[in-house]
Amino acid sequence: MNKIAVLTSGGDAPGMNAAIRAVVRTGISAGLDVYGVRNGYDGLIRGQWGYLSRRDVGGILHTGGTFLGSARCEEFYTLEGRQRAIEQMNAQGIEALVVIGGNGSQTGSYELHKMGFPVVGVASTIDNDLVGTDITIGVDSAINVALEAIDRLKTTAASHGRAFLLETMGRKCGYVALMAGIAGGAEVVVIPEQEIPPEEVAREVRAAYDRGKSHALIVVAEGAKNNARRLDEHFAAHPDAIGYDLRVTILGHVQRGADPTASDRLLATRLGEGAVRALVDGQRGVLVGLRGNRVTTTPLEEVAGRQKVIDLELLELARIMAK
Ligand code: ATP
Repeated sequence: MNKIAVLTSGGDAPGMNAAIRAVVRTGISAGLDVYGVRNGYDGLIRGQWGYLSRRDVGGILHTGGTFLGSARCEEFYTLEGRQRAIEQMNAQGIEALVVIGGNGSQTGSYELHKMGFPVVGVASTIDNDLVGTDITIGVDSAINVALEAIDRLKTTAASHGRAFLLETMGRKCGYVALMAGIAGGAEVVVIPEQEIPPEEVAREVRAAYDRGKSHALIVVAEGAKNNARRLDEHFAAHPDAIGYDLRVTILGHVQRGADPTASDRLLATRLGEGAVRALVDGQRGVLVGLRGNRVTTTPLEEVAGRQKVIDLELLELARIMAK
């Protein structure tokens, strides 16, 4: 094996740059030429890539986003699209591919693997919903952004005796909301994995009010049925239900743009190195992740199309702490 390529796919996550850097520098150390693909699978289909030197990946370790660009690519869902991508790589002499991305991206990489192309995935998404890893690149940074917002909101909420409702990212997965809620001391956490009716949310907040708390915080994941908009509507229709005056903050994409935390940089560096090592060792069709603080590989077959189940004991922990 002489030439490999690396791409970032799906939603960008802080630490993707650190992972690209690790792939490139480990690859070069192993005697490989490493090509960086622009804009995920879209660039793969169009043959948009360039050789990356050690210096090309300098100065990016501390930056969020992905300097290669990322994309969601409809064409890659089709057999023809994936065939075209393989033809492009064969024409360039690229013998293996490292895919840095989340659930959908690794389902795509498994499709490539099934077509016989050597591929290794690196677990990276702010959702932390990938099977085969305890933690994904980007989630720690996303939690820290949410936590900073919580801390600030709590300060102003306490000054005015208000309740704040903070909506975090997470279409199908409430991991960021839950962890930020625990770390930030939320009164209620609402996640898609275990829906709570608005009446119950109101009861919990009202109980905090009646206990004399100067402020209250509700953290809700965007994918929850009762998201920020719905809860706000419910509280507006029942003005006495929570006691406090309520303000709503939706974090949105602010969460993605963070500089990666030390933890994400370290994780990305370890997993990026692990991906190249796996390829050099002859492993194919695996996801590189972290389990029990060890870099591990899991067959993509076990990862593709599945979502990691959230530990609901953590939700119980959030409830106990809120009392
Ligand atoms: P995030 O977790 O941040 O949302 P993701 O990797 O899950 O990232 P998706 O939009 O789900 O993001 O997937 C990224 C891309 O992966 C898709 O646009 C598509 O090109 C490819 N992909 C996803 N699922 C499949 C599939 N079943 N077959 C082939 N390609 C796929």
